[in-house]
Amino acid sequence: MRHQIVDGTGRVKILLENDYPIDSIFDTINERVKTLINKLNSCSAEKTNNNLPKERVKWFSILYLEEISNKFKNAINGVCHRVSFFSLNKLNQFIKVHKDPLNNELKRNVVYKINCRDCDVSYVGQTRRKLKTRLSEHKKHIHSKTSTHSVITEHRLQNHDFDWQNVEILDVKNYHNKRLILEMMHINRQTNGLNLQHDTIGLNHAYIEILNKL
Ligand SMILES: [Zn+2]
Repeated sequence: MRHQIVDGTGRVKILLENDYPIDSIFDTINERVKTLINKLNSCSAEKTNNNLPKERVKWFSILYLEEISNKFKNAINGVCHRVSFFSLNKLNQFIKVHKDPLNNELKRNVVYKINCRDCDVSYVGQTRRKLKTRLSEHKKHIHSKTSTHSVITEHRLQNHDFDWQNVEILDVKNYHNKRLILEMMHINRQTNGLNLQHDTIGLNHAYIEILNKL
């Protein structure tokens, strides 16, 4: 065993070359091997013994979705983990702390939602730049000379306007791809969204089925 460890890692050779005492090196290795063996034994004991010592139980938290979560729980139980559930419906969704909207406008890497002041439609978008910069483009678009109108401009031309002062920030994510997925999920969750169909074309149908159950 001693020989295998030396050949297998080369670490012992390095330690010896750096004048570490050989006894101390192998004492450390022995302790480490014992710890790993104990871990393995306690893991297999947990599978068979219901009287688990509390500190050995590992928990794995997943989002609770009716039908799906219990199947997952059954699948993962017995692999040294217990499954707990959490809900997306947190109190902070209902109790809002009103912060200065100007702070939000200075944020970058956001997924945002603009609500119409005159009806229940909304628009979800994302931007890497300051939210303020993107909103200003949305607002100015109505004055551009292009023949194709954005969905926002189209809606404003029907004598509706958006609540530009209270644009919601739905998520903040620095990674572009993650932000795009979140944007599509939020587009899909709107009650009366203005976004075009192709805005969510990259969202896998499996996500849509799950989102519809939320
Ligand atoms: Zn409207």
